[in-house]
Amino acid sequence: MPDAAPLSPATIVVSAGRPARTQAGPVNPPIVLSSTYVSQGAVPDGELFYARADTETWHPFEETLGALEGSAHPAVLLGSGMAAIAAALSLLPPGGRVVVPRHAYNVTVAHAHDLAARTGAQVTVVDVADTEAVVAAVRGDGPDGDGSPAAMLWVESPTNPMLEVADVPALVEAAHAVGALVAVDNTFATPLGQQPLALGADVVVHSVTKYLAGHSDVVLGAALSDDPALHAALRRYRTLHGAIAGPTEAWLALRGVRTLALRVERSQANAAELARRLAEHPGVAQVRHPSLPDDPGHARAAAQMRGFGSILGVRPHGGVDAADALVAAVRLWVPATSLGGVESSLERRRRFPLETASVPEDLLRLSVGVEDVEDLWRDLDQALRAATGVTG
Ligand SMILES: *Cc1c(COP(=O)(O)O)cnc(C)c1O
Repeated sequence: MPDAAPLSPATIVVSAGRPARTQAGPVNPPIVLSSTYVSQGAVPDGELFYARADTETWHPFEETLGALEGSAHPAVLLGSGMAAIAAALSLLPPGGRVVVPRHAYNVTVAHAHDLAARTGAQVTVVDVADTEAVVAAVRGDGPDGDGSPAAMLWVESPTNPMLEVADVPALVEAAHAVGALVAVDNTFATPLGQQPLALGADVVVHSVTKYLAGHSDVVLGAALSDDPALHAALRRYRTLHGAIAGPTEAWLALRGVRTLALRVERSQANAAELARRLAEHPGVAQVRHPSLPDDPGHARAAAQMRGFGSILGVRPHGGVDAADALVAAVRLWVPATSLGGVESSLERRRRFPLETASVPEDLLRLSVGVEDVEDLWRDLDQALRAATGVTG
């Protein structure tokens, strides 16, 4: 091909990570089940020798995700989203301070506090939608700051499960002004919705378990950086800590990512339509989705994302009991944790003791899938009516 125009993400998900084209060669990469490689003597950089350090079945997915995030380097595939988050947090220098959104994924917040308890790192928890407060916390002149800047800013946008939207470019600028690294958990938006590296972030992490793999059949994670030293540090972390992906899981993630653009397009459209209808439902006290014109995150999401994601926050009338009754009353929606699968699912987040106390007890997180939107609506509507007692 002559100097081609850059491929669009909807094409990258399909075309990246394919084997070289050879007559009678396969169009998909093989799964190589081998813990070790024939090897003797010095090992040149990049040569395979042991499958904890590197294995070829990771590469097609790593290249595809690297291309999707617009990264100079392939992604670093890890055994779970939390393994990727641990790798990114390992970049925090000893005794350094990390600023974390209070409604980031609850296990991320717990991990940061655990790090603080074990290593003397410091954690400042912020409302990531409150740009002024985050900037003050990063500089160290927030309410409990001592004037010394943070070493890392953790960003999740939209947040899980509160769906707050951060002003990513403004936060990146403030963090870089004081020399802090910026890590972004891009699980909710997916690289189709936003590319944090292009917005200036130093590190991006994903729970590949969710949209990227997309079928609720694997647990995997990935970390990316454009910076050669940070990319090398993430790879080194993986080799030293050993939280690696199995070849079969890596292959399933590649198989899943092929339809990412189609799945996200459909689930986002479903989510926006359901949000619009839920906002008018007599059984609903509050619905959050950045697509809604009066949602606090709407303007920012419209400016910095493509689409508004496929997660909804819903609080039914009637509190916790109504929320639990709704989860019990659905027939098509699956009562389950996790998100980003082709199937629609929902859960009350505070059923988990680790979930942050400022998340309302009656908040349901809905992961909207790719089913027919009318079927999803009918089931939600009957469950809402049954759970809240509203009629008409
Ligand atoms: C699920 C999730 C994680 C954790 O990923 P695992 O693959 O479950 O380890 C991290 N961040 C976000 C936003 C998530 O939704």
